[in-house]
Amino acid sequence: MTPRHAQYLAEIGIPVYALRSPPAASHAPAGTFEAVAARAPVAPPVAARGRDIGASMDLEALAREVAQCTRCALHRSRTQTVFGVGARDARLMVVGEAPGAEEDRQGEPFVGPAGQLLNAMLAAIGLARAEVYIANVLKCRPPQNRDPQPEEAAACMPYLERQVAMVEPAAMLAVGRIAAQYLLRSEVSIGRLRGQVYRYGERATPLVVTYHPAYLLRSPIAKAKTWDDLCVVKELLGRP
Ligand code: SF4
Repeated sequence: MTPRHAQYLAEIGIPVYALRSPPAASHAPAGTFEAVAARAPVAPPVAARGRDIGASMDLEALAREVAQCTRCALHRSRTQTVFGVGARDARLMVVGEAPGAEEDRQGEPFVGPAGQLLNAMLAAIGLARAEVYIANVLKCRPPQNRDPQPEEAAACMPYLERQVAMVEPAAMLAVGRIAAQYLLRSEVSIGRLRGQVYRYGERATPLVVTYHPAYLLRSPIAKAKTWDDLCVVKELLGRP
């Protein structure tokens, strides 16, 4: 680990412990991707429910369509849609739940304190925010930040599926229970969804689940588990 990464870990609140002596074994220790993948179930691919939505559009055209969307009742209360942001050829796609108040105001996902923590989490594995693609399950803010309703997610997920199909990331990171459950079509708790590598969509993109930065701000003790998840992402991306 470089001093720079140690600094990033300190910034996101994860203590770094140094080994007193180097490990003797050369095989992969428990917790690496090899160990995780060996015991990980593969979720069935998610059907391309959004194939008919924006199939012939590029990201910019899809964003313009989303900006006009009235497919669910959330269009009535939004300030603006929050489509997504990041590199068109990103190798990592981060998926969250829905815009909050600040995202609704700025039109960009993961801004404010939770966004700053996400940036620090990405930096800890050597990624700048601009290198990844960030989007949410919902493109409009639910009133009072309530959980998305199933019919809202069903109406909006096709947009996300088109974004995944166009960006073609090498790996995905679902942050928070809501994003993980909708992406994996599961009702299992996030505590049980963590620690495994799933396969998402027709391209069977590796998908890792971790806690939402907003939760980590309230429960810093969970940061160590999030660091484990980020290390799996780093290995999936083949980063040193
Ligand atoms: S949440 Fe999604 S489906 Fe609902 S109005 Fe907004 S963009 Fe359309």
